[in-house]
Amino acid sequence: MIVTRFAPSPTGYLHIGGLRTALYSYLYARKNGGKFLLRIEDTDLKRNSEDAVRAIHEAFAWCGLDYDGEVEYQSKRFEIYKKYIAALLERGLAYRCYMSKDELDALRAEQEARGERARYDGRYRDFTGTPPAGIEPVIRIKAPLSGEIKFNDGIKGEIKFNAADILDDFIIARSDGTPTYNFVVVVDDALMGVTDVIRGDDHLSNTPKQIVLYQALGFSVPKFYHVAMINGEDGKKLSKRHSATDVMEYKAMGYLPEALLNFLVRLGWSHGDDEIFSLSDMVRLFDPAHISKSASTYNTSKLEWLNAHYIKTLPYKRLAAACDELGFSFEGVPNKELLLDILRERSKTLLDMIASAKSIVNAPNSYDEKAVNKFINDEALALLAKFKVALESASDAASAQEFEELTNEFLSQSEKKLKDLAQPLRIAMTGTSVSPGIFEVMQVIGKNEVINRINKLIKG
Ligand code: GLU
Repeated sequence: MIVTRFAPSPTGYLHIGGLRTALYSYLYARKNGGKFLLRIEDTDLKRNSEDAVRAIHEAFAWCGLDYDGEVEYQSKRFEIYKKYIAALLERGLAYRCYMSKDELDALRAEQEARGERARYDGRYRDFTGTPPAGIEPVIRIKAPLSGEIKFNDGIKGEIKFNAADILDDFIIARSDGTPTYNFVVVVDDALMGVTDVIRGDDHLSNTPKQIVLYQALGFSVPKFYHVAMINGEDGKKLSKRHSATDVMEYKAMGYLPEALLNFLVRLGWSHGDDEIFSLSDMVRLFDPAHISKSASTYNTSKLEWLNAHYIKTLPYKRLAAACDELGFSFEGVPNKELLLDILRERSKTLLDMIASAKSIVNAPNSYDEKAVNKFINDEALALLAKFKVALESASDAASAQEFEELTNEFLSQSEKKLKDLAQPLRIAMTGTSVSPGIFEVMQVIGKNEVINRINKLIKG
């Protein structure tokens, strides 16, 4: 069975790059009927992992991703790590190193002076003497001193590291007994039964160390997939300078999770030339063989395009629920489905949609000054006053088409053009000179409300 995992280090929010690797891991597990696990890498106890977990739950729930079983917390697993460290010591595969900080600094300085890479020189590797007093030792793994460390990356293909070039006997437990990052990742992935590790390629340099540890611990090595980074449009690693990085900020900006997931899946994965993928399409089609080897570029207009697509096409209920989460309820709004339909055609984000909805549902409290200066004068007010009388004969539940017919008849009788009436009427109804079609707006708010709003503008 395929078992994948997402293993965020808690930062208090979920980064969109993290969401992308979580999504890939999720899709690969779901596609294969496997398991997708969640592990919080909170060994740095100074950070508050509860907030981080809350943030991850919130983001997963918003996106509709779920994981199997219970969340694992590294901070609760220290006893397990200790046991494995003790076992490595016992089997002679790891050892205590008593080198002091001063000695280590001196060694580093000498190596740098000779133009060599700074590395531990293995001086306690075979030490059998009496340990120096007053030094709490660190524990180091006996790493291979020569040969190659190879693995077949699911994205990058065969990767080889020359042990002598990249490894030294690296530390697996600090002098206070706490295990180091690579050690805990390996123990956890092995004990959680992870078969496929999908993660950012910023972890590529950890992988040979982790392979050494898998082998020393007698665990089988999982398959690795190192996903290339997401860059901003300037080619630099994506950061807050380029875009929002917190997943939940996208919600606050009026993006739909359907659009964000679709955007992220395509940042680094493809299925032919297809662009639109629902989550179930992704589960059906996902294949890590089609994850790109090279970095992808974050493109805001693509995200906006996808968001507009989902706003246009998702069912009424889904969109209304998404607006509700942002604090605007369509419940109780007359002609709510029609209102949403006329707005969805012209909104890039849910915030645009909510702002337009509000300007239609609520009578204007004020009028856009520029629009008033341009379109409202005595003549326009007189025409609105006459139009109001003509409107009396309409039914309050008239359709857009009926309002249009009535308006055309009124205009031909008064020998006026639509352009003479449309903008003054739009300003009366919404306070601005931009809105969806006036006849649709009239249908949504109803005849009586159109008359009220004309009266309000005329009275000033
Ligand atoms: N905790 C690491 C991170 O947040 C991920 C480690 C891994 O996936 O192996 O970058």
